[in-house]
Amino acid sequence: MLNNPFLNAQEQLRQAASLLEPQYGDKKVFRAVIQTLMTPQNLVQVELSIKMDNGKTQKFKAFRSQHNDARGPFKGGIRYHYNVSVEEVKALSMWMTWKCATTGIPYGGAKGGIIVDPSKLSKGEVERLSRAYARAITPYIGVWKDVPAPDVNTTGQIMAWMLDEYEKIIGRHEPGVFTGKPLEIGGSLGREEATGKGGVRVLEQLAKKLQLKPAQTTVAVQGLGNVGYWFAKLAAELGFNVVAVSDSRGGIVSNDMKKGLNIDAVMAHKKKMGSIAGFTGTRSVSNAELLELPVDVLVPAALENVITAENAGRVHAKAIVEMANGPVTPEADEILWKKHILSVPDVLSNAGGVTVSYFEWVQNLYGYAWTKKEVFAKLEPLMVDAFNHMWDMHEKKNVHLRLAAYVNAVKRVVDAMILRGR
Ligand code: GLU
Repeated sequence: MLNNPFLNAQEQLRQAASLLEPQYGDKKVFRAVIQTLMTPQNLVQVELSIKMDNGKTQKFKAFRSQHNDARGPFKGGIRYHYNVSVEEVKALSMWMTWKCATTGIPYGGAKGGIIVDPSKLSKGEVERLSRAYARAITPYIGVWKDVPAPDVNTTGQIMAWMLDEYEKIIGRHEPGVFTGKPLEIGGSLGREEATGKGGVRVLEQLAKKLQLKPAQTTVAVQGLGNVGYWFAKLAAELGFNVVAVSDSRGGIVSNDMKKGLNIDAVMAHKKKMGSIAGFTGTRSVSNAELLELPVDVLVPAALENVITAENAGRVHAKAIVEMANGPVTPEADEILWKKHILSVPDVLSNAGGVTVSYFEWVQNLYGYAWTKKEVFAKLEPLMVDAFNHMWDMHEKKNVHLRLAAYVNAVKRVVDAMILRGR
């Protein structure tokens, strides 16, 4: 079983390349470009030494993988998690290349990470670690080079510390080098909910194609971090029936599948009780059980590799909207496709985040401050066009949605590589 995310990413590229190859006259050039895209352009690996609150020094392994920059500066978040690995960061950076190409924003792909459980660190320790990471990657980033952002367990505050450290080194302001910043220092209105906002636009398009009416559509969301929370909340606001949610410790399902959950009330319960378990009108389920619930739409919004060859056969949903990066493995893709379960891939479903990051960068470069309305008015058509572009390819080639989105995205990157003569 392939559970190495980087091997999965390479397999996905291989599948897209074999569908694309007939379009290219010069097979030798095409194959050479695909070979280049199989691995990141640059990989930074460092060990960060931090003075802990107890006076001792602790070392943390950290990475920045820059997959490809043929379409524009490298772009992608920084993840703090104890499961971060070089293979994971490499995979995530490749997925960013396809994601930026999917909505057509002018970036390549990158991803960074630190092997750390930030919940075990004090605020001061997180700040020192974040500043040390920014110092280590300063030579490799820049507004026209590589533009990092938040990812799992990293926040606007962390971006603020990193930007501050970077600007101290270069000796001038350059807010566009990090996105996902707090508003006070050049962040964009709407960035916080952007990934969820883009995701519900995708959900709406999908529901139309499958002729599902929001009020009769049950939805289960795995993960209640920034992405899962906003997705669940905005989907409920659009009238979808969000009947199950979970966080890293477990989930809850509504006792009445016709009655969706009030997401803010669930969050308030979690704040008060320390856990979502025990929320009125629900029963507890494990994260594994949540994925197998008989809902219409399943939304993995936490981490990669949750729907695999092992459990794909037990997925009962009609469709999946991938809000996490890499939640469905290539083997699971095949199983779902045979079962006629459509999975809208991460590179489209969660692209709202990086797309509003792009708007933040544009505002920083021009010194503009757009209203939230302006930001969302620009986001929505990009998401809808990218969805339709994927759907057309899915129908034309009769392939699953990931392959359809990949064929479009990989083609854009390959063409940029060929134009540059790389
Ligand atoms: N970490 C987010 C993602 O995986 C956002 C990246 C960004 O804004 O650059 O898409």
